Amino acid sequence: PDPDLARDVASSLRAIPDFPEPGVVFKDFTPLLLDTALRDRVVADVVRRRAGAVDVVIGVEARGFILGSIIAHELGVGFVPVRKEGKLPADTHSVSYTLEYGSATIELHTDAVWPGQRVLVVDDVLATGGTAAATVELVGRCGGQTVAVEVVLELGFLNGRDQLAGTEVHALLTD
Ligand code: AMP
Repeated sequence: PDPDLARDVASSLRAIPDFPEPGVVFKDFTPLLLDTALRDRVVADVVRRRAGAVDVVIGVEARGFILGSIIAHELGVGFVPVRKEGKLPADTHSVSYTLEYGSATIELHTDAVWPGQRVLVVDDVLATGGTAAATVELVGRCGGQTVAVEVVLELGFLNGRDQLAGTEVHALLTD
C-alpha cells in the first residue's frame, strides 16, 4: 500500500492545453519517467495487484510500451506490443476504432498471445476507451483473456469505462 501515490503522480503529470489539437488537454507523463523513485512506486503498485495473475503484458503504442515493459520485467513475464497499422512485420489481427482525436487501426501479432493466456493491458491514459477496447478485442481474437487494463490516468468525463464492460479497469488516478 502506498497511500500518497495518486497525489504524487497527480503532481508529476503535466497538462498541455490544445495539444495535439485545439480543445484537447494533453496529459504528459514524461516527467514521471524521469522521477525514478516515483516511477518505481507506480510500477510496484501495479505489480502488487497483478503478481502471479498475468502471463503476458501488452503495451499500447507508444507510451504504453514504456511502463508496460518495466511492469513485464518486474512481473517476470513477456511483453507484447500493440501497434498502429502497418508497423508489425508478421501476421496480425487488426481492429479499427474512433478516438478522442481522429480514428485509428491497431494490430497485434497473431502468434503473440496464445489461447487461454491471461493478459494485462498497460497504457498511460484512458480517454474515450476506444484504444483499450480495441486492444481487448485483439486479445480475444488470439483466444487470450484480458485480466485488467491498467492506466496511470483515467479521464473520467470521457466515460471510457463504458466501452470496457466486463473488463477490470484500474486507474492510479482519475481526472
Ligand atoms: P482513447 O482511445 O480515447 O482512450 O485514447 C487513449 C490513447 O490516446 C492512449 O494511448 C493515450 O495515450 C492517448 N490519449 C488520449 N487522450 C489523451 C490525453 N488527453 N492526454 C494524453 N494522452 C491521451
